[in-house]
Amino acid sequence: MDAHAVLDNVTGIAAEFAGQRRERQQRGYLDPADFAALADAGVLLTGAPATMGGLWVDIGTSTRPFCEILRVIATGDPAVALVAAMHPAVLGFWLTRPEAPAPHTAAWRAQSERFAQSALEGHWWGTVTSEPGSGGDVTRTTATAVPRGDGGFGVSGLKHFGSGSGLTSFMITTAIPDGESEADLFVLDVRGAFDAGGMPPVSDGRVRLAAAWDGVGMGATQSHAYEFTGFPAERIAWPGSQAAVTGVAGAFFGALFTAVIVGVVQSAHAAAAARVVSIHDTLRPFEAVEWARVETEFWTLEQAYERLLQLIEAKGSGALLDAQQAKLAIAELAESVMLRICRVVGGGTFSRSSHLGAAFQDVRALGFLRPPWALAYDQLLARTWASYPS
Ligand SMILES: Cc1cc2nc3c(=O)[nH]c(=O)nc-3n(C[C@H](O)[C@H](O)[C@H](O)COP(=O)(O)OP(=O)(O)OC[C@H]3O[C@@H](n4cnc5c(N)ncnc54)[C@H](O)[C@@H]3O)c2cc1C
Repeated sequence: MDAHAVLDNVTGIAAEFAGQRRERQQRGYLDPADFAALADAGVLLTGAPATMGGLWVDIGTSTRPFCEILRVIATGDPAVALVAAMHPAVLGFWLTRPEAPAPHTAAWRAQSERFAQSALEGHWWGTVTSEPGSGGDVTRTTATAVPRGDGGFGVSGLKHFGSGSGLTSFMITTAIPDGESEADLFVLDVRGAFDAGGMPPVSDGRVRLAAAWDGVGMGATQSHAYEFTGFPAERIAWPGSQAAVTGVAGAFFGALFTAVIVGVVQSAHAAAAARVVSIHDTLRPFEAVEWARVETEFWTLEQAYERLLQLIEAKGSGALLDAQQAKLAIAELAESVMLRICRVVGGGTFSRSSHLGAAFQDVRALGFLRPPWALAYDQLLARTWASYPS
């Protein structure tokens, strides 16, 4: 199966999801059947290299088709698309960095292959990295990782926003290894740790539900908060590389999250336009101006998305600053477009069953996804100053 075939497959699935939109918007849970359908459609293959039978080629080649797959899914169900996005976003740490320096080269390759193989065998990946109070900055992690004597570690700490919990088999996280000062990446094998709803079924002391996800947007992502206590974890096979691998993968995963929100805005814009066109000659001046602004901002959003993909095609991982600019610009445009759409379409968008009201909340996720607003602007400015001639 190639990426075009997967895109064709998910186009049909997204149309089916869109037909069930009203019911899906009321959901506060993930349906495993949706992810079985996406797996059959080939979406899991985004987590493995083409050399092993997956879809990944390199960042310049694969970002556009992977983004398109997620953007299309998001036109039908934003929460399912966001959870599905975590899979290539997380495995992207290994995919975008095929080689590690000595003495980690062989171990890194073996770990990369094992993780990719798990995707080919039907396992979804996610991340439960965020910690309350860290503002999305992994360098501020207070979680700890203590060696267990079997080569593995026991991770302890409070984590939140674990999108896809209960659905994923493996989740990455960050923790400070015992005796070290910098956070590193760890992989949690969460099979059996949660039920399908993301609840720890039996309290065995390793993980406790700290707060169930009750998002006003992206409601059905099961992004629960947990307290881990000595949870078994495998360290990234290139120890101390957290900053390096995040930097190389940053443009890729930023683009994936952005694509999800572009799809949400596109489906909302299409639905609103279908409604507004029939009453356009009765719009009051304010509504007409607001709609004109919707069109300008929506056009800019689509241009920014296309340019983002072009720049990653041209520069690969070197498009990190461009990806951060595009993600922030699209996050702001998406919120603004949805606010204006809701003003024009009216108070009915407050209804829980309104497609537009739900999309307004869903698009707010982008600004909080890694790196979230404040951290993203810090990083953007730091990279901007560094890019100016001194
Ligand atoms: C829909 C959705 C899905 C997500 N999915 C995932 C996911 O799957 N995996 C994942 O890891 N993350 C996920 N995230 C989380 C995201 O990546 C960010 O980490 C998260 O949104 C940051 O939350 P926050 O800004 O509320 O930060 P918080 O850490 O809660 O902090 C809030 C603000 O207050 C400040 N602050 C609060 N307390 C303190 C303190 N004690 N000391 C210093 N400063 C403090 C912070 O600097 C920050 O600016 C998701 C977020 C959303 C919205």
